[in-house]
Amino acid sequence: MTQTQFTIKALAEALSNGKVSSVELTKEAINAARGDTNNCFISLSEEHALQQAHDADVQIRNKASSFLTGIPMAHKDIFCTKHSTTTCGSKMLENFAAPYDATVVRKLDDAGMVCIGKTNMDEFAMGSSNESSFFGAVHHPWDSDYVPGGSSGGSAAAVAKGYVPFATGTDTGGSIRQPSAFCGVTGLKPTYGSISRFGMVAFASSLDQAGPIGLSALDLAHSFAFMAGFDKRDSTCAKRRDDWLDRIKSEGFTPGHSPKKIGLPRGRIFNEISYQNAFETARRQLESSGHSFVEVDLPNLEHAVPVYYVLASAEASTNLARYDGVRFGHRCNDPRSLEDLYRRSRSEGFGEEVKRRILTGTYTLSVGYFDDYYVKAQKIRRKISDDFTATFSKVDALMLPTTPDTAFKLGSLNDDPVSMYQQDLFTVPASLAGIPALSIPCGFHNDLPVGLQLIGPANSEKTILEIACEYQKNTTWHLARPHSNSVLEKF
Ligand code: GLN
Repeated sequence: MTQTQFTIKALAEALSNGKVSSVELTKEAINAARGDTNNCFISLSEEHALQQAHDADVQIRNKASSFLTGIPMAHKDIFCTKHSTTTCGSKMLENFAAPYDATVVRKLDDAGMVCIGKTNMDEFAMGSSNESSFFGAVHHPWDSDYVPGGSSGGSAAAVAKGYVPFATGTDTGGSIRQPSAFCGVTGLKPTYGSISRFGMVAFASSLDQAGPIGLSALDLAHSFAFMAGFDKRDSTCAKRRDDWLDRIKSEGFTPGHSPKKIGLPRGRIFNEISYQNAFETARRQLESSGHSFVEVDLPNLEHAVPVYYVLASAEASTNLARYDGVRFGHRCNDPRSLEDLYRRSRSEGFGEEVKRRILTGTYTLSVGYFDDYYVKAQKIRRKISDDFTATFSKVDALMLPTTPDTAFKLGSLNDDPVSMYQQDLFTVPASLAGIPALSIPCGFHNDLPVGLQLIGPANSEKTILEIACEYQKNTTWHLARPHSNSVLEKF
């Protein structure tokens, strides 16, 4: 285990005091990414990145830079970018060149970040292992026989390997938090609607949310501030009333330290996690810095996985109807009729997991089953959300494990979709309620990283980030790195 200081914060300092230039950093990042053997990237864009880095150096010299200017980063390949393909991990979009940039891409470009490439992901963000990618599985950064988690597995693994200090992810039911926990990095799923979904390929629109993956909670606060904000091109994007995000952009984030009351949910499902020791040690660590803990009940939590898979699949089945072989995306050769065109284009373009979701989603929305599945799932979703609301009248935040176990072996759950879905046991509840949740590394179990999750009420990112920053001030789990070949470390 080695410790490094390869955070956005450290690099921003090195850039601003002239110890390194963005062009130098970017070249190193691209070289490191080229040597990647974990399959973290779907595409790299050297020319584009070097141009951005050159511009960033000019801005830094002219003292016209932001906190993020000149820092290399990568986007999950779900965000539309003009400069490269946007595949969403699918054969369906293998050659898709978006005519515009996603709002998140534009915002981070405007902040001066340098995008070195697009990261690998589960096809259409459906999965918990990154094995459903058309471009091949990503390998775990600490042990290549294992999965890195999904669907933002390429982003989490790229950060863990040190190719970039920061990458974007998306989280519909855990896809930022679960791979962050598996890979030993820090990830935030913000409140639903905080970050624009414009230009982010849709999976389940009532749940999809973009967010940052980085090495520290402090870095997440800074990158989140630049990613968030109202966008009229996304009808579910919220106008937030708090101004702390705007303040971060001009002044930086100085986390406060007020003691918080943290709820620990009790119940059968919490007794089954494999890394009880690491979790309990983390709780005591938080307690020793002044936070208090109380046990709470979230009675409907155990229904979250089936509810999520009914609703997410239903939404996916309608969202993915647009890939019909007519307008964009994969088209079969020599269609004999319109129906043949639809059928073969979709059969050839989508992988197995995506087809499974489309089939189950279409089924639950069909006449005769709609009330039994979709409507019922919506009612339970409301109950889960109400449980959280009731709990947050008593506590400031909740602490949960991020996952039931450590990363699992590549291939081990491929024939067992239900066990794969159970991986999301602790992440889907916050997604269904649309509330913010982050995962921070809290130790190791069987030599693999594990994470804990902090969840807060809507728009309470500041609270959970502050608790996380404090934890990371007193611990070093987030700085533990695999035997890295990151040449960026020398900066
Ligand atoms: N693992 C979950 C799924 O397969 C979550 C995916 C996500 O958050 N994008 O749907």
